[in-house]
Formats: sequence, C-alpha cells, structure tokens
Amino acid sequence: MSQLVTALSGGQVVSYVEKLIQQKREREQQPVCAYIYDLGALRERAQRCVSSLPDDCSLFYAVKANPDPQLIASLLPIVKGFEAASIGEIRTIREVSADVPIIFGGPGKKDAEIEEALERNVMLIHAESLHELQRIGWIAERRQQRVAILLRINLRRTLPEASITMSGRPTQFGIDEIQVPEAIRLVQSLPFVQLEGFHMHSLSNNLDARLHARMVATYLQCVQTWIQEHSLSIRYLNAGGGFGISYTDLERRFEWNDFIEELQQVLEDYRIPGVQLIFESGRYIVAHCGYYVAEVIDLKTNHDQHYAIIRGGTHHFRLPVSWQHNQPFEVIAVDDWPYPFPRTERRQTSVTIAGELCTPKDVLAHEVHVEHLRIGDVLLFHIAGAYGWTISHHDFLSHPHPHFYYINQT
Ligand SMILES: *Cc1c(COP(=O)(O)O)cnc(C)c1O
Repeated sequence: MSQLVTALSGGQVVSYVEKLIQQKREREQQPVCAYIYDLGALRERAQRCVSSLPDDCSLFYAVKANPDPQLIASLLPIVKGFEAASIGEIRTIREVSADVPIIFGGPGKKDAEIEEALERNVMLIHAESLHELQRIGWIAERRQQRVAILLRINLRRTLPEASITMSGRPTQFGIDEIQVPEAIRLVQSLPFVQLEGFHMHSLSNNLDARLHARMVATYLQCVQTWIQEHSLSIRYLNAGGGFGISYTDLERRFEWNDFIEELQQVLEDYRIPGVQLIFESGRYIVAHCGYYVAEVIDLKTNHDQHYAIIRGGTHHFRLPVSWQHNQPFEVIAVDDWPYPFPRTERRQTSVTIAGELCTPKDVLAHEVHVEHLRIGDVLLFHIAGAYGWTISHHDFLSHPHPHFYYINQT
C-alpha cells in the first residue's frame, strides 16, 4: 500500500484537502467529507485522447459515468459530443449547451423520452429493439420530423484471436445480429427514419488496448458486409466505450498509445470510405479526475481486526463494494486534536476502512496496510470520478451528502 500511495499522490489535490481541513478547524465545521474534481486534469486527459485519434474518428463522452454539469461543461470544447442514456441526461447536457451533438442510447426508452429527445434535437438515436424502432418511427411521423438512427447490434461472433469472449452472449442490449436484415427492412419502411449506421458496445472496462482496436476491426468487417448485402449508404459506426481502468493494480492500464497504433493499422486494413468512427467513452475519461475525501471518525479493534470508520462510505461511493475491490487511498495526516483525552492510532498494520452505515457491507477497502493512521486523519480516495456518486444509495440512513469541490476550473 505504501508503494501505491507514492505512485498516486496527486500533490495539488492534497494541498487543496489541507486547505479544507484548515477551514474546517477555523469555522468548527463538521468532519471533512467531499468529492473533489480536478477539472484541469480532466481537460488534459480528454484533450490528449481527442488529439491522438486518427482522421474520421471522434470521441463522445458517455454521460452516465458522471453527469456532473461542471464535468460536462469542461468537456464541451474538447469532445465531439455527448452520449446520453435517459431524458434526464439529455436535459443536463442541454442546460450546458443548446446545440452540442447528443447521441441518445439505452434500453427501455419511453415514448415521452423519444418525443422530448426529438424536440431537443438529438443528433442520433440508438434503436435497441425492433419494437423501439417502430415506436421511434411512429413518433417521428406524428411529429413530421426526420430522425437519424443507428441500430445497436449484439454480435453473435467472437474475435478469433481474442483472449476473452466479447459477444455472442445473451443480454438485454441491442438487436440480435440474426435480426439485422429484418431491422434494416423495417427502417427502410419507416418514412421519417434514416438509417445512419450501426452501434456496438460489447465490452466494458477492457484493459487490453490492442484487443480493443481489433474488436473495432471486427465491427468494421460486419458493417462492410451489411452495407454490401443491403446496398446501404451510411455515415457512422459507433464502436462504443469500454476503455478500462485498473483500480487495484496500477501497473496494469489501458495503453492508449497502443490502442491508437493498432487502430491506425485497423483503419488501413478495413476503413470504410465515408463512414465516421465514433467512440463513446465514460470511465476512461473521468475516473482519474475525481477524488473522494473522508475523515476518520473512529478506530477500533474488533475480534483482532482493526477498523477505521469514516464520515462517509458506500452511500456516497459505492464503486469499490459493487466491484469488490479495495479503493486506493492515501492518508493525509491531521495533527490537530481537539479532545482532552488521548488520540487512538495504529502503525504499520492492516486496517479495514468502513463507512458510517449500519451494514457490514459498508467497506471501501478491506485489510489494507497503513503506515500510520489516527482518528482525525483524512483519507483521500483516488480514481473516484466515474460511477461514484451517482451509482450510490445517497439517502440510506439520512446522513448529510458530501460537499462537491472543483479545482482548476479554467
Ligand atoms: C456505459 C456505456 C458506455 C460508457 O462505458 P464506459 O465503460 O464508461 O466507457 C458507452 N456506451 C454504452 C452504450 C454504454 O452503455
């Protein structure tokens, strides 16, 4: 763990947390509990991804990874557009920009969502089933408004040289590959629906960058076949998101440069003239810009195991418990001690980091090594920017929500 901590240290964020601790002391506020987003780091990472993409490729941000309007606003000048999975996300994006391109995806779209998405001028809708396609056509016709769609396809084939199977698995997403001819015939019969291409998102949190690019090769080959078989003229292939983040082994990461190198080769071999390649990434863009900070409220030893209890927990940050990993963190030492009795501490031992909820599942890291930890110190959890706050059950036990802070806003 100590090695991990050295590798992680986000210096600027640490000084910011120290400022928060100082402020808390001066104003006698409640224990520290917050999300901190480094918008400068976010812009830099997104810019690096976008700048390296080959011609005819564009990057959309998948808002469900973190729908915070400040993050959306920071990404607005950098990404091509946003992928939304509900009308709520579409509204959030439209509050930041009246005209940025939006792709509307997700299974289970309601009629009212489709209707409002059309009103709010989304660029594309991903049709996830034949029934949904019919409803999109019916609503578009009633509105006398043309709508551009991509068919989301769940492929049946696997990549021959892949070490992991990436499709051919039943899921609730998309249209079965064997229904592609039927789906194309259906779109062609709908006067207000224009088939602009295909969408495939078969992998999530993939750490193998070259494999990811080869998956795109498979997509391109499939699309090429459908274009020929059905004499289609299309403009987009959306290859989804799924660029991965390793939370526990920081040596393993999705090597972006390898992905780009392999993608260039793939495009040389399989490029379809006139077809733009879209990526809609969430986790990879925002995970590293977010931090969760929480003060240690208690330290105890129970049946020979050490526990630190923090002001906060999985109701704010459910990711580690839902993925069953130890969230990486560093200890920020706070020397101030307000009480007239001795301070409990642990040195060079393993501690389980638990939250303030009355459930044994409220654990952010299990038996991890700490050099020195005291009640009143503050834990800074890293890689908390994606699928953190919004996947958590905020109001279980009715504790106050964390504060939200943003650094490097411009
Ligand atoms: C969730 C999702 C994404 C984003 O996935 P990440 O793993 O965060 O990159 C992209 N496309 C679709 C269709 C999704 O459901």
